[in-house]
Amino acid sequence: ATPTSIMVGTGRAAELGVLFRKGDALQALDGCEVVAFDKTGTLTEGKPALVRSEAAPGREAAEVLRLAASAEQGSEHPIARALEQAAEGVLSQPVDSAAIAGHGLRATVEDHALLVGAKRLMDREGIALGALETAHDEIASAGQTPVLVAVDGEIAGVFAVADRVKPGARAAIDALHARGVKVAMITGDTTATAQAIAAELGIDHVEAEVLPEGKLAAVKTLRERFGAVAFVGDGINDAPALAEAEVGIGIGTGTDVAIESADVVLVSGAVSGVVEAVHVSGAVLRNIR
Ligand code: ADP
Ligand code: MG
Repeated sequence: ATPTSIMVGTGRAAELGVLFRKGDALQALDGCEVVAFDKTGTLTEGKPALVRSEAAPGREAAEVLRLAASAEQGSEHPIARALEQAAEGVLSQPVDSAAIAGHGLRATVEDHALLVGAKRLMDREGIALGALETAHDEIASAGQTPVLVAVDGEIAGVFAVADRVKPGARAAIDALHARGVKVAMITGDTTATAQAIAAELGIDHVEAEVLPEGKLAAVKTLRERFGAVAFVGDGINDAPALAEAEVGIGIGTGTDVAIESADVVLVSGAVSGVVEAVHVSGAVLRNIR
């Protein structure tokens, strides 16, 4: 592409809220075979809410929720906010609370040992789901995130948190398909949850239960399978994947680290910006060819 056509293209994109931070990103994007999206905060709003509560036999869901929300008080995870908002009664300050990346957290609350997180956290700790297994699987198949709670080494409850898919996400994915681009999703969430959301959005390929440090490896896997990768993400955990991808696309409403690691920034956070970026890139390159 000539410097002039790149200038015109990036200028047109900027008017649509799509900022090309590097001129070569415009050319690289046209060569991308697959667009991979982070799930939480990128395809979904990133503000999950509690939609279902189930207690283990002999437990009370409201009390389990109060303990779990207390345990989450120091956490930055969106799930922590969902539990805190839904909990009733007085929350206690957690002691020794520690995040377990990609799994959940542990803390002591009112002298009880709390574990809050995904099934793989319970698997790791050797805690069986017992009577809650069915509810857990139903929640995940519905595309909601199951949040399991263990108290003193025994399963006590499962809660469903649901995050809305962003308006325009489905249309953007359809538009990418129409251009012959494959679409993938990379997430730390449970496989069944991720697959339900992928089916709703028409996503071709899912990499689920990816640990925070595994997103970069997931980009490499996609490259081997499909070719050049554009990765779209918003979070701190997304920075290495944004840097690894042929084109890193950061969400303007996301974290500073993600934006700094990106080649392209979508100012409004709308998923449709990805389609505009791909469109401008193709138009500029075809003009000069
Ligand atoms: P993602 O942002 O894609 O959900 P994370 O790596 O943050 O990925 O978390 C992976 C999974 O671990 C979450 O989907 C959730 O099930 C669980 N998890 C992580 N942190 C917490 C937390 N503070 N409370 C409850 N569950 C958590
Ligand atoms: Mg995210």
